[in-house]
Amino acid sequence: MPPSVFRFAPSPNGYLHLGHAYSALLNFDLARRAGGRFLLRIEDIDATRCRPEFEAAIYQDLAWLGITWETPVRRQSEHFSSYRDAVERLAAEGLIYPSFESRAEIARLVAQRETKGTWPRDPDGAPLYPGTAKSLSIDERARLIAEGVPYAWRLDMAAAWARAGELGWTEHGEGPDGERGAVTALPGAWGDVVLARKEIPTSYHLSVVIDDALQGVTDVVRGQDLFWSTSVHRLLQDLLGLPQPGYRHHRLIRDAGGQKLSKSTAATGLRELRAQGATPADIRDLVGPP
Ligand code: GLU
Repeated sequence: MPPSVFRFAPSPNGYLHLGHAYSALLNFDLARRAGGRFLLRIEDIDATRCRPEFEAAIYQDLAWLGITWETPVRRQSEHFSSYRDAVERLAAEGLIYPSFESRAEIARLVAQRETKGTWPRDPDGAPLYPGTAKSLSIDERARLIAEGVPYAWRLDMAAAWARAGELGWTEHGEGPDGERGAVTALPGAWGDVVLARKEIPTSYHLSVVIDDALQGVTDVVRGQDLFWSTSVHRLLQDLLGLPQPGYRHHRLIRDAGGQKLSKSTAATGLRELRAQGATPADIRDLVGPP
């Protein structure tokens, strides 16, 4: 049997906190226990939010924790052409379409719809795309693109889901509502998700499935906050003919107020804790067992 391949895939848009430490240590320990490989992947597609000092800090903090990884590290910003190829393929199959509304326009359309009742939201709480760009004619799309209007490539969810049919995955961890074992994917809950933008030729969903496949990842181990994203990932894997890894979503590390950690603070940041004299063993104690 080929070795298992695990990965930790942070975005360098802030300093690592205890939640990252838990995820990285869990992946690293599982890989070691399985006699498998551990990869680090830098998810830096958004140049406006990612910074070199955060990336450098990721390497330092993980090394301090005692984690080692294979090199070279895959940095997503160096692989835009792989993602572009997938976008072109989906476009050729008529499964994506360009939408031209700005974020402000979308917010206005949602507010308009909400005066008539509740407008559906995705599993992260964001309103579904309310626009009508799917029905623009080919000529109209070409005209707007030629005029330089910014656009986002959206998945035609209805067509894509109909093409794929029923999908699911085996959950080796636990979902936010206790989901375990065979889980049915519900990609439609996300509506017509953005897969790429004019200025960033990919998205989290698209690059994660392409990279997991390209890197031969066999076990995706990540936080429960990404549990329902797996529905979209299973759909994209099916559409692009990519293999399906195993999935294990883990509990989230919370702050004293019970909130999911979003940025590092004095109480939760690895650098801050290290400066206060914490050891890697203390970090393992703080995050608790798998
Ligand atoms: N880059 C994502 C994050 O930092 C994680 C991606 C994943 O594990 O699928 O939240």
